Parts: sequence; C-alpha cells; structure tokens
Amino acid sequence: MHSTLAHTESPIVLTQTDKTVTLRDLCDIPFENSFVHELPPDPLLDNNPRQVRNASYTRVEPSPVRTPKILAWSDAAAEMLGLSPPDSLTGPVAQVLGGSRVLPGMEPYAARYGGHQFGHWAGQLGDGRAITLTEVICPDGVRRELQLKGAGRTPYSRTADGRAVLRSSVREFMCSEAMHHLGVPTTRALSLVGTGEAVVRDMFYDGNAAAEPGAVVCRVAPSFVRFGNFEILAAQKEFDLLKQLADYIIRTHFPALAPIPAPDLYARWFEEICRRTAVMVAHWMRVGFVHGVMNTDNMSILGLTIDYGPYGWLEGFDPDWTPNTTDAEGRRYRYGNQPQIAHWNLSRLASALHPLINDEAALVRGLAVFESTFSETARRMLADKLGWDATTLPEDEILLADLLGLLQEVETDMTLFFRALAEVPMGDTVDDSALIAPIAEAFYDQGSLAGAPREHLVNWLQRYRQRVRCDGVPDAARRAKMNLVNPKYVPRNYLAQQAIDALAAGDASVLNRLMSVLQRPYDEQPDQNDLAARRPEWARHKAGCSALSCSS
Ligand code: AMP
Ligand code: MG
Repeated sequence: MHSTLAHTESPIVLTQTDKTVTLRDLCDIPFENSFVHELPPDPLLDNNPRQVRNASYTRVEPSPVRTPKILAWSDAAAEMLGLSPPDSLTGPVAQVLGGSRVLPGMEPYAARYGGHQFGHWAGQLGDGRAITLTEVICPDGVRRELQLKGAGRTPYSRTADGRAVLRSSVREFMCSEAMHHLGVPTTRALSLVGTGEAVVRDMFYDGNAAAEPGAVVCRVAPSFVRFGNFEILAAQKEFDLLKQLADYIIRTHFPALAPIPAPDLYARWFEEICRRTAVMVAHWMRVGFVHGVMNTDNMSILGLTIDYGPYGWLEGFDPDWTPNTTDAEGRRYRYGNQPQIAHWNLSRLASALHPLINDEAALVRGLAVFESTFSETARRMLADKLGWDATTLPEDEILLADLLGLLQEVETDMTLFFRALAEVPMGDTVDDSALIAPIAEAFYDQGSLAGAPREHLVNWLQRYRQRVRCDGVPDAARRAKMNLVNPKYVPRNYLAQQAIDALAAGDASVLNRLMSVLQRPYDEQPDQNDLAARRPEWARHKAGCSALSCSS
C-alpha cells in the first residue's frame, strides 16, 4: 500500500507501452491449482504433526484469525499479479490474505520437504506455517503461487504453532520487495496482514517468552519448491515420486528444457539450477546481503532468494559477518562463505537427483557450471561496481585484493563506499584530500582515517584512478553505469527495526516511506538522504539491528 490504499473503483486499467493490463479484485480473478492436480496428495486431511509418505503435499486450510487487517500492501507485486488495491483494509481481501477465508477455486496445501540444516540431515520439515492458497496466471503469462506464511498449523509444524510474529513478517515483506527492486532474483510479497492475535515467542532463547502481535505475509513466486522437496523423496527412496516432481517442475517452470530426452534432461536441468543459484548468490555478494540460514530447505529450485529470516545487510564490510545469533559460533552462513555453502547445498541436491541421472560425471559438470558461472558473474559485477569495462588487466588482481584489505582495515560501510566511488575526481592532478572527500561518509569512525590507513586509501585511490583512466570511458558515463549497480538505498537492519517499532505502535508511515524509497534503490532521491546514512551507533548492538535469532 505504499501510497495507494485509498478507495478505488475496480477494475483499474493500467496502460503500458505495449499492452493494457486490467487490474481486478482478488475476489474476482480465476485460480488454478496445478501443483495439487498434477502431484499425489497425502491421503489424510488432518493437520496433526506426523511423518507423511508417498505424497508431495497435504491438503490443509489456513486457520482463521481474530481480526485480519491489511497493514501493508505492495502495489508493485499487486500489479504483477493483475490485482487492484483492496477497497477495505478489513474486508474480504484482508480475510483471504489473513487466512480467514478461502475463495472458491482455491485448493490450499502445505508442501512436504526435508533438508540439511547447518550441515546435517534433519529429516522431514515441510511447510510448517506456510500454506499455498492457489496459483494465478499473471498478466505477463507467468503462473505464480499465492502463499500465506504464518497461516496456522499443518502436519509439518512439528512442535511449533504455525504462526509468525509481526517483526519477522515486516522483515520478509519489506526485504523481499526491496530485493526485487535491487534486481536480485527473489520471491515477492503482496501483503502484510495483522491477525489481531498474540503469538508467544522467546526472542532471545533465554527463558523469557513474551506475547507479540501476530501477522501473515502473502508471498508470491512461480514456485516455492526447494532443494529439500527432492531430498526428502530420495531419502525415503520414493523414486517414482522423485521423477514425478522433477517432471512437473521442468514442465511447469523450465519449459525450454522439456523437449530434451531423459536422462540428459535431468542433467541439463540440474545444470540450470546450478547456473541460477550462482547468479543469485553473486547478486547477494554485490549488494551485501547475508541470508543467514542457507539450509537446503531454504534454497529455491528456481534460484530465487527464499525464506527471509535472520538475514542482514553488511554495513561495515566484513566477510566474516553473520546476522544470525544461532550461527554466531560456527559462522557457517557468514557473508563470505555464501558461495561455498551454495555449492555444498547443490551437492546435496545432486545426491538427491542421482537416481534420475545415474551419471556422476554429469552431476560434477553441473557443479562446475555453478563454479564458472559464479566466478564470471561475481567478477563482472565487481568490475561494474568499480566502473571498469572488464577485469582483464594483470594489475587488476592486485588492485582487487588490496581493495578487500582496505575495506576491512578501518570499518567501512560497503554500500556508501561503492556508491561514493563514482564521485571520486578523475582529473590529471588531484590532491589527497579531494580524492578522499567523496567517500569520507563511508567510515564509521571518522577519526580512523589518519596515518597508515589514510596512506593506504590514498595510494589505492590513485591506482584506481589510473586504472579507470585506462578504459577511457567519459566520467559521466562511468558514473551513470556505476550508479546502476551500486545501490544508494538498501534495507539496512536498523531501518527495518524502526519500521517494525512504528508499525507495532500503529504507525505504518515509516514502513510505507521505506518501501517507497526502496522501489528506486539506484536513484538519488535527495529528499530521502537520511535513509542512506550509515548505521547510527545506538543500533550497533541493539537486537534486531545488528543480530537476530531464528525466533520468528
Ligand atoms: P526455517 O529454517 O525458519 O525456514 O524453518 C525450518 C522449518 O521449521 C520449516 O519446516 C518451517 O516450516 C518450520 N517452522 C518454522 N517456524 C515455525 C512455526 N512457528 N510453526 C510451525 N513450523 C515452523
Ligand atoms: Mg524455511
């Protein structure tokens, strides 16, 4: 709703350059349910926790909530779906998106999956609090699922309550939309609905459980199938179903591959998953995103960023940083380890798909595609971030290695540093102070830039300047290109927390403003400079701003 949740007459007609899109109310659109119709169900309908066998999902309805109310709405996601803004915050659309009402044509279900958590096989997990309502064929022709997160218990809830708290729901809603606008492959979010019910959580896992407001996010993606949906079938030796699920996913979401004959089909499909995963992680590295819980049940088969939990954004550049307090010791999911973890997760998927492919060399080739795609993509992105045509010169290696050292020598805000690099003067003779001036804001301790660190920075900037001049690209053009890949605005952890605190106190304006600025993260938006500032000191160690537990 960043701005448009006013009463509107539907349908709304949006005219784009080449087509006209008619926006309609959620209650008036047709629904499809291909996942449910093309894959075998769990024969039981109850939502008691249990082990499910020989099924890809269980039919289960969302549990109604007391007073569903739309707290936030993404116009961008709604337009993608062909939906008009709801004309009431508490009417039928709020009831559907809060889980209190199922529309005719919707066939809700919870998916069955397993996964490796923190490096260990965890057995059956599944949609413990997510329920897919249905599928929609969007105006762009793409089939997308509407999935409620926090919609109540399912057979996969284990000992948990199936619900989600407001703070984690705001974080998922806000960040997944921000990631989309940053150009990072991701699931989307349509709405954030307050339930009017309390959810009890022990946020710090210290025995102090407290009641918090509950919420439901409606997430949107072509599919929420994860590596773990295949892993559980291989682990249980349900090989017929493994093939059936693979065929469904390929047919529905990788149609270009479908004509290839098996078993080559599955090998080529695995390669494509490896390629997409590599591109996704390269984007994470480009924008400074740390997922926080890269378990194989949180890895999308479509190469989308999925399951926003204790994620975070690098502020001071630090490859060892993780936002997830549950991972503080081993730091398995730290920023700099994400490419290795993605590779490890793909190896787990390779094992699960082995019965379909039966060719180890083909799987190894797939994993090699991950490696080559990641290194080429990350390298090209880094060159773009630095405003270089390409990284082909021999001296570039040293310059890049020195940059990584430099960014860690004194605490340097990653986002501010790269954004400001475009402003460093490239003239023939530039004195040291003028060289440093544009990036001064990036340093957390303004006194730290003296002595050796200052010398190293000046030295690097001089060499960088020479390197840039080699390309011979006019300054304005280089700057414009850099600004397309170095965001000015990212959903910094403390900004998300401010939006949560305001919303919990009944004020949606902070979240709406943030969402609207994050729709154009590469634009200057000079009136919004305060949202691009480096993290204030009060937020350094504050819960939610610097570190998060998995409690959500
Ligand atoms: P995560 O790593 O947070 O994505 O979740 C791991 C597993 O726990 C998934 O199967 C989730 O569906 C399940 N889960 C997490 N929170 C809850 C909850 N509050 N109720 C039921 N299941 C949950
Ligand atoms: Mg998950």
